[in-house]
Amino acid sequence: MGQELAGCARCPIQTKDRLCQTENGKSPSFCPTNNYPAAVDAAAEELKKPEILEFARQASIQEAEGYANKEIGYEQVKPIKPRIQETIEFAQRMKYKRLGLAFCLGLRPEAKIVEKLFASQGFDVVSALCKMGRTPKEDIGVRDDQKINIGCFESMCNPIAQAYVMNEEKTEFNIVIGLCVGHDSLFLKYADAPCTVLAAKDRLLGHNPLAAVYTIDTYYRSLK
Ligand code: SF4
Repeated sequence: MGQELAGCARCPIQTKDRLCQTENGKSPSFCPTNNYPAAVDAAAEELKKPEILEFARQASIQEAEGYANKEIGYEQVKPIKPRIQETIEFAQRMKYKRLGLAFCLGLRPEAKIVEKLFASQGFDVVSALCKMGRTPKEDIGVRDDQKINIGCFESMCNPIAQAYVMNEEKTEFNIVIGLCVGHDSLFLKYADAPCTVLAAKDRLLGHNPLAAVYTIDTYYRSLK
């Protein structure tokens, strides 16, 4: 506390010369590698827990196995696995048996396919849709004119209930598909098992939120 806000997103140093990438590398004044030694030490301490260590180790191995051509040099490496394949492989590496699928009503066709894929790999899949429980939006103080289908009954998204189902079913790893901004936050907060996000919802951009970032100088310039 007290020092400049950590600002890696603003780092002006070339990637290969950064302190976080190379010993005796360069760093700006807001560099967390320099300014947050306690955070780095605390993380190292946490990583001494066997289950956390194994999770982190397998995630790193999975990361590297997402590339081909490593043997012929860094400049030649290329990605070879889509995220869904990585998710399946990571769950297998971790020897998980029971997976949770927390998904949005709007992505039910996708969830159906994903559920089948995981089941075909031998996993038990527990799935819960955002509208489960049929709790009216009015219960959380939403007015009729703040609903999507004005004048009609509308179930609220209930990510806490989705998480509680996963917790009760003792899922070992939860996969999020297309939960809304904020609803995803609640699911991640209340789920006991570690979670990964297979798809981030973007209703407008086909669940590719970065499309607006890639076109920020053209079609989405009004966001700047
Ligand atoms: S850790 Fe430091 S050197 Fe690395 S990106 Fe962040 S600010 Fe730059």
